[in-house]
Amino acid sequence: MSMQATTLINELQSHGLRLVDPSAGVQSRRGGAGPSDHKAITIGDSTVMVPVHTAPAFESPYVVEAPDAAGRARILHNGTAIAEASFPARPRFYDLSTADGVPYSKIAVLHSRDVLATTVLQTCIRYQSRTKTCRFCAIGQSLAAGRTVERKTPAQLAEVAKAAVELDGVKHMVMTTGTPPGDDRGAAILAESAAAVKASVDLPIQAQCEPPADSVWFARMRDAGVDALGMHLEAVSPDVRARIMPGKAEVPLSRYWEAFAESVAVFGRGQVSTYILAGLGDTAEEILATSERLISLGVYPFVVPFVSISGTPLESHPAPDAAFMDAILRPLSAMLRAGGLTAETIKAGCGRCGACSALSTYERRGA
Ligand code: SF4
Repeated sequence: MSMQATTLINELQSHGLRLVDPSAGVQSRRGGAGPSDHKAITIGDSTVMVPVHTAPAFESPYVVEAPDAAGRARILHNGTAIAEASFPARPRFYDLSTADGVPYSKIAVLHSRDVLATTVLQTCIRYQSRTKTCRFCAIGQSLAAGRTVERKTPAQLAEVAKAAVELDGVKHMVMTTGTPPGDDRGAAILAESAAAVKASVDLPIQAQCEPPADSVWFARMRDAGVDALGMHLEAVSPDVRARIMPGKAEVPLSRYWEAFAESVAVFGRGQVSTYILAGLGDTAEEILATSERLISLGVYPFVVPFVSISGTPLESHPAPDAAFMDAILRPLSAMLRAGGLTAETIKAGCGRCGACSALSTYERRGA
């Protein structure tokens, strides 16, 4: 590879990637929560999610050729080959349907190379009103497009998780949810879903929700089989939170800090994480200062470059450039090392997967 891996990943996640042949049998996903409008691509020892269907990706100087019979393809920068990549194969569990006729791929999907991901509840109290919705979120789009079902039942999740382990060797599972009405903020449906999956197959699970009003839910989720927890700040400064996610920002930062400390006491140091989207307006210094505080509590700050999703209010918002990501991820990986937190020791979830950021690649390079 003629470019350092961390630089190339930062560049690809900022600019996106154009596909020479979009129909070349390469899996990608559009809309929904998580790395929407992205494709999983393996470069060297890193599998990363790279934007392919976003507006910036159509202008990207990076192009990937159609893969050969072995699934390998060249990445070109302004016409010059700079790296070789491969694509995870279409998972076999996508060919199955539940007894009641729902395709497994509408219940859970493969992220990166070995992560099963589901949005247990595909609606959200924050998404009902234009003034409250998180401006980056597309949770309703994949539902409207018929690519998913609104509520995945515990039995359906258990059935799909077992198949994904047995047929495709998935290693861990991410369960996220839109925020339902009620002050458990989704913890109850995550707990019942985790219990059903764990009764069916031995698969580490990360649950993701807003901080429940009552911290008793942390022990309930753990006892139900949740191994790791994500409570996502998304943005760190109060003004950016209020601007980008006016509804979610009604839960004050003080509740997040309380909940981080209380959940680490339940799940253990390094098993609680938070997603931080760089590029929404927080400065590198603000993100690093928040990360330092998180790490001291035992929370893994998973900092990812913000990538807009088509059809959302932020669809034209630019991704942060590679230099901005480097200015955060390089010192952050050193802070994580000093704090004894690593992606690979997280039992399940986005931090362990790492595909939406170059952070874990920095960690491996540093180690
Ligand atoms: S980091 Fe999280 S959202 Fe991104 S691919 Fe991995 S599991 Fe999915």
